[in-house]
Amino acid sequence: MTAPATGGLTLTAVTKRFGAVTAVDDVSLQIPEGSFFALLGASGCGKTTTLRMVAGLDEPTAGAITLGGRDITRLRPYQRPVNTVFQSYALFPHMTVEQNVAFGLQQRKVKRAEIKPAVQAMLELVQLADYGHRRPAQLSGGQQQRVALARALVNHPQVLLLDEPLGALDLKLRRQMQIELKRIQTEVGLTFVHVTHDQEEAMTMADTVAVMNAGRIEQLGTPTEIYEFPGSAFVANFLGQSNLLTARAHGPSGEDVAVEAHGSRFAVPAARSRLTSGPALLGVRPEKLHLTVDGVPEGHNAVPGIITDSSYVGVSTQYLVRAPWGDELAVFAPNSGTGGPLAPGSEVTLHWHPAHSFLLAPDTTPEPA
Ligand code: ATP
Repeated sequence: MTAPATGGLTLTAVTKRFGAVTAVDDVSLQIPEGSFFALLGASGCGKTTTLRMVAGLDEPTAGAITLGGRDITRLRPYQRPVNTVFQSYALFPHMTVEQNVAFGLQQRKVKRAEIKPAVQAMLELVQLADYGHRRPAQLSGGQQQRVALARALVNHPQVLLLDEPLGALDLKLRRQMQIELKRIQTEVGLTFVHVTHDQEEAMTMADTVAVMNAGRIEQLGTPTEIYEFPGSAFVANFLGQSNLLTARAHGPSGEDVAVEAHGSRFAVPAARSRLTSGPALLGVRPEKLHLTVDGVPEGHNAVPGIITDSSYVGVSTQYLVRAPWGDELAVFAPNSGTGGPLAPGSEVTLHWHPAHSFLLAPDTTPEPA
């Protein structure tokens, strides 16, 4: 079967084995042209190997990769309209910023008169127009990363691959560069495929995120989709924190699924349920749980509890609340109201809107080694 002739990047049943290790296991993906796509997962899940196969640095054991409808599976790296930016920027230390950016064009024998304006345009894009004569050692980490980006983009690849490009930067700079990378991607309109283990980074920048686990795509969706309605306990836990209650689904009830957990009955909207009967996990994120010492709003699910721990973290207070069945549930309460945090030992009621919960199949996915 041939892939549809879109300008996008398509992986069809791609597998990569290194001896006994299956690094990438039957991965199929369609990445639309001009989108910002993130491959997100823990160390060793196969992200880099996937990227290296797109770049032509590793050859798939099975499967096909097409770009714009053209099969590139067996092309040499330099024959592909693809460039990669790595975590280690790999700039030439003895060359100036301009020379670093011009290097690829010179290799391709682009006319000298065309090189200078192309380099200048790229340095403007990455906001380093005044730094052309410096050497890499005279730049900050974030500036070096921008040079690496300019050097890759000047070749006008169809796809830019980014392998943990912000991994070496401190947290503040990384946040700035996330916004900057997204701006650049929107401005140039290229397909970016970004590998990261940092969920916040993937969610900030990407249009679509593929969560990888043990060589497979565990879930694919927009940042909102995968966070608000994770497909599995693995994804629910990988993207932030989740309270997951062992539960049983008792079939549809109007627009909801009737759920029982630890002797109490709850409702979960059918649209947020991945099953309607049998063993299940009822999920609620800590920031969707509310604490009250008096009434519960009409239609909310509720559970009594006792606060066992509270940590003030500026924007919110993070509580642990022991439920009647002994498990501790995490609650993040915004510090926007008046009155201080509730003290450990306080008796409270936890409640949540049914639409803020989700119902999953019990997890059978192996955790990464
Ligand atoms: P990280 O975030 O740590 O870079 P990753 O998700 O990018 O991890 P990969 O580097 O793709 O993961 O590795 C996936 C699996 O394949 C790992 O178990 C790794 O040890 C194995 N692997 C990768 N490259 C090779 C190789 N050249 N030879 C043997 N095994 C390899």
